Amino acid sequence: MSYDVDKPDEQWRAELTPAEYAVLRQAATEPAFTGEYTDTKAKGVYSCRACGAELFTSTTKFESHCGWPSFYDPKDSEAVELIQDRSHGMVRTEVRCARCGSHLGHVFEGEGYPTPTDQRYCINSISLRLTTDEA
Ligand SMILES: [Zn+2]
Repeated sequence: MSYDVDKPDEQWRAELTPAEYAVLRQAATEPAFTGEYTDTKAKGVYSCRACGAELFTSTTKFESHCGWPSFYDPKDSEAVELIQDRSHGMVRTEVRCARCGSHLGHVFEGEGYPTPTDQRYCINSISLRLTTDEA
């Protein structure tokens, strides 16, 4: 799999903070209820913190009470890449940025949230950067 933005590991390490690198490039998960966007309700666009690709918007963000920013749909279906993840003894669907391959979080389905898709894109705050709409 090759991505439009394809940098050597050393470059990612230099460009990202250690915490950003651990999540985006090593698929770590930030602790629940600690991310800066968990409860954010500001209107705007959430972009990939590694490459700047637009991934999610505030219009599909909802309160899941799970401790991470949750969206019921990406901005564009092509903006994210979904990969089966069998780590930690579970079968989950990993969500990556389709432009640079960075880890964003996981998507869960059929949990019964009252959203149009019944999907929950559970995304690490540290993988995202919010650009708020100018009034
Ligand atoms: Zn990216």
